[in-house]
Amino acid sequence: MLQLDVWRSPSTITPFLTIISHSHADHIPKNTADIVVIHKYWADRPNVKHVKPVIADGKPIIFKPSRNAKIIVKALTPREVGRIAGRQINRLHSTWWLISYDNQTILFIGDLDAGETTIVKDFIEGLERSGTRITKLAIPSYNGVNGHNSEGMQLAKEVADLTMYAKAKGITTIALPHPVLGPGSWDEVWIRSS
Ligand SMILES: [Zn+2]
Repeated sequence: MLQLDVWRSPSTITPFLTIISHSHADHIPKNTADIVVIHKYWADRPNVKHVKPVIADGKPIIFKPSRNAKIIVKALTPREVGRIAGRQINRLHSTWWLISYDNQTILFIGDLDAGETTIVKDFIEGLERSGTRITKLAIPSYNGVNGHNSEGMQLAKEVADLTMYAKAKGITTIALPHPVLGPGSWDEVWIRSS
């Protein structure tokens, strides 16, 4: 059903919808036959032109894969994440997405910088205070990365810690290997499609 950047569930052969988190080349599918959506902030970047995306402006968008099914996707700006998390956020590595379908609510974050995992926790708490519970958390799994504000295993450890936090809340954790699986308490490991 869903592809998140270049990752999909092993059981998804042909995704209906691809949601792209930001314009870094390793996050953009090479070929897509499905609908692709991206936040307007990234829409003019050369890397994304070939996927001909639907441009999201922050309002919820509804897709209908079949008569009885519906997927609602919503892009979150850094400011909106900050408002919900109760802190001042001016910039995030990637656009965060809330995806609702099949009685699930997925928080999808396609890429992280070191330090952003604490924002994820505050955001999940803030959403809970407003009555929304995340049921799945789809985040990159790193196994040592330089850049991303991180050296060595720092970011990988932060992500592993975030998966423990999510699991304690009963949230299903989905690993998006970036590019290989790293430490964490993962329920699902999605595969790279390109
Ligand atoms: Zn990136």
